[in-house]
Amino acid sequence: MIIRKADFFLTAVLKSQYPLDDRPEFAFVGRSNVGKSSLINSMVNRKGLARTSSDPGKTRTINFFNINDFLYFVDLPGYGYARVSKTEKASWSKIIEDYLYTRNNLFCVVLLVDIRHEPTDDDKIMYDWIKARDKKVVVVATKADKISKGQYQKHISIIKKKLVMDAEDTLILFSSETKYGREELWGLFDNMLGI
Ligand code: GDP
Repeated sequence: MIIRKADFFLTAVLKSQYPLDDRPEFAFVGRSNVGKSSLINSMVNRKGLARTSSDPGKTRTINFFNINDFLYFVDLPGYGYARVSKTEKASWSKIIEDYLYTRNNLFCVVLLVDIRHEPTDDDKIMYDWIKARDKKVVVVATKADKISKGQYQKHISIIKKKLVMDAEDTLILFSSETKYGREELWGLFDNMLGI
């Protein structure tokens, strides 16, 4: 897809605040600091669109970005940040759950994991949630520039094994630093959308 327009659209916490139209939504989920904001910015070629976090774990809202007046990128709060209270964790899960479980416009979920580390139990729970909703899912291994290409296969295996990934689901390696994987991910999105 050629990006003609990529704008912040709105911030939501409650379901009633989600956009009213029925454009397809690509939701991005992952642990805090996994590189979600950087990936969104790379995908749309806009450095400051999604905020990259100097203070990970702070975003407790859902941000909708309008892409080409055609679809939304939906930035869900990062999970798994250690330094927050149980109450805060519960309110985050509620925000994420409300969206993932009820949003009809949800078209595809992009689950981000750090290529260097085995996915966490939270990542596995998230993957299972998405599958339970029968939504399209893409797993993206971020920060691919941080390991050598010779190590890719080993890390891919670790990720697929921990998530118990379905053979039909795609895993893409991505680097916001080098843009590695950007074309492949857009190609996949375009394919899903039938364009
Ligand atoms: P978020 O909390 O998931 O939105 O993560 P951010 O996008 O804010 O990134 C967290 C940190 O990882 C920042 O210091 C980024 O510069 C860094 N980062 C994100 N993506 C990459 C990447 O592809 N390669 C490298 N080397 N660093 C990255």
